[in-house]
Amino acid sequence: MGKRIDLHTHSIFSDGELLPSEIARRASVLGHRAVAITDHVDASNVDCVGRVINAVLDIRDNWDIEIIPGAEITHVPAEIIPKLARKAKELGAEIIVVHGETLVEPVIEGTNWSAVNCPDVDVLAHPGLITHEEARVAKENNIFLEISARKGHSLGNGHVVKTALEVGADLVVDTDTHAPEDLITYQMAEKIALGAGLPVKELKTVLKDNPTHILKEKGIF
Ligand SMILES: [Zn+2]
Ligand SMILES: [Zn+2]
Repeated sequence: MGKRIDLHTHSIFSDGELLPSEIARRASVLGHRAVAITDHVDASNVDCVGRVINAVLDIRDNWDIEIIPGAEITHVPAEIIPKLARKAKELGAEIIVVHGETLVEPVIEGTNWSAVNCPDVDVLAHPGLITHEEARVAKENNIFLEISARKGHSLGNGHVVKTALEVGADLVVDTDTHAPEDLITYQMAEKIALGAGLPVKELKTVLKDNPTHILKEKGIF
């Protein structure tokens, strides 16, 4: 059995219920190797990355789990995504997620396109009815598409997996955790990926190799 790597969670620094340390502890108990804390940001609160980093420093030095500060750029005009991604990185965010065009929220049209064209972005979360062209560009720019464990966002998972497989884009399974019960085990992540139509032979690539690759490229692993 593999160890979970979850690159998309929310703490009390945006709309999550848990302190970073509680996310870390619960993830550790569920068998995670690493978890990124990617609170929602726009231009008004991107400096909350600094608060996450302060929280993370204590945990990552003392516990047997890698906690990674990040940010999820959320509901901003598509044209400013690159600027905010850069800003979040400068403030110390190591994983940049973009809140994609989910089926269940009025995300601004063009968000997926802007995200896949921004090399500072690591994961396009819940990209809904992503097009083949967007998925192709994501692949070119080394941006991973998310299979979401979150209710609502997960309605698009089948389409996301099908489109990614057709163009060879890379996938990850993330939870978008907001509450304690949202974190999942490796086995549950496998079931969610299979339920989205991912072939069994792709499971290890998507659940283990892809997130490991992202973190190795950044020198975190
Ligand atoms: Zn999101
Ligand atoms: Zn999220």
